[in-house]
Amino acid sequence: MNLTNAFGTFFLPGPTEVRQEILAAMTQPMIAHRGPDFEQLFDRLQRGLVPLFKTERPVYISASSATGMMEAAIRCAPPGRVLSLVNGAFSERFAHIASMCGRDVDRYEVAWGQIHTIPQLDERLSMRKYTAITVVHSETSTGALNDVRAISDCAHRRGAVCLIDSVSGFAGTELRFDEWKLDYVLTGSQKALALPPGLSFAIASPSFIDQASAVSARGVYFDLVELDAYARRNQTPSTPALSLLYALELQLKSIAAEGIEARWARHKAMAARTQEWLVKISDETGKRLVNIAPLGSQSPTVSTIRLPTNLPSETFTAAVAKRGIVVGNGYGKLKSATFRVGHMGDHTLETLERCLAACSSVLRS
Ligand SMILES: *Cc1c(COP(=O)(O)O)cnc(C)c1O
Repeated sequence: MNLTNAFGTFFLPGPTEVRQEILAAMTQPMIAHRGPDFEQLFDRLQRGLVPLFKTERPVYISASSATGMMEAAIRCAPPGRVLSLVNGAFSERFAHIASMCGRDVDRYEVAWGQIHTIPQLDERLSMRKYTAITVVHSETSTGALNDVRAISDCAHRRGAVCLIDSVSGFAGTELRFDEWKLDYVLTGSQKALALPPGLSFAIASPSFIDQASAVSARGVYFDLVELDAYARRNQTPSTPALSLLYALELQLKSIAAEGIEARWARHKAMAARTQEWLVKISDETGKRLVNIAPLGSQSPTVSTIRLPTNLPSETFTAAVAKRGIVVGNGYGKLKSATFRVGHMGDHTLETLERCLAACSSVLRS
């Protein structure tokens, strides 16, 4: 792990620290994107990506941030009312996108930090006909992890497709697209994939794409039917972000060498270590730090930690930054009350220890 960033080492929940060799990969020369060289590159990327999604489906690669593939999900979902599961700022954004794309949207909101539970969801879905639900896997504003497999099963029993944002979950948390019979999953490059921002990825089931081809006004840039057709030919509909793809190719090699299951386990261990640390440092300093997501539903990739009321996160994170470590402020309505540790991407228990030591040092002073 490169620890030479002049701005300090990033433990932000996006963008995450990017290794020097990954940045260097982006300096390779351009290639023509309509030709065999690009098709071979795209094919190599597919071989690296499909094992991460645990799928045999093609993975769409979009030159947009993850929000682009959120919008694609809504534009291409079967017509009808949408139920948005909201438990933080990013799941609220998914609901907002659905309504700005002209959908009738109902929000099923639970307290920030909580997750959605199946009996309650089933009841909501029985009250009204929905054709799609939106859900965030790892809610990056709160560090809560939804059980997307159970949520998707529940949606299917009620005849709705399940649109899953796994932006901060993917590549750091177990996800099995084929075995779990998911409809649609999207992610971005700058979270647990530890790449620069600018790429998003999505994957859709065959039946989702079949249904999408009958949906009108899907637009052009975020048309999944088109992305699907091009991906099958190892192509993208418009000019790909080549430099970012070079970085992706190298990173996929590293991830393959580690193994995706080992990567999931490493993230789990980092989350457990963070939880253990906050209990210890609270005892030691008498300052009460609390992970706002309850035990059992904490995300492996991000911890959102409530600070004592007399210590605003802006003050805390600035003091941590002076020690060479960049942790995140809270997000949305939790901005000042919490800070966030993005223990994701290429971080290890060892690099995390330096982050926690810097946090401890501020709390002790
Ligand atoms: C970061 C993030 C997004 C937004 O991603 P952009 O790349 O900024 O468009 C959406 N959902 C979740 C859960 C995120 O963590």
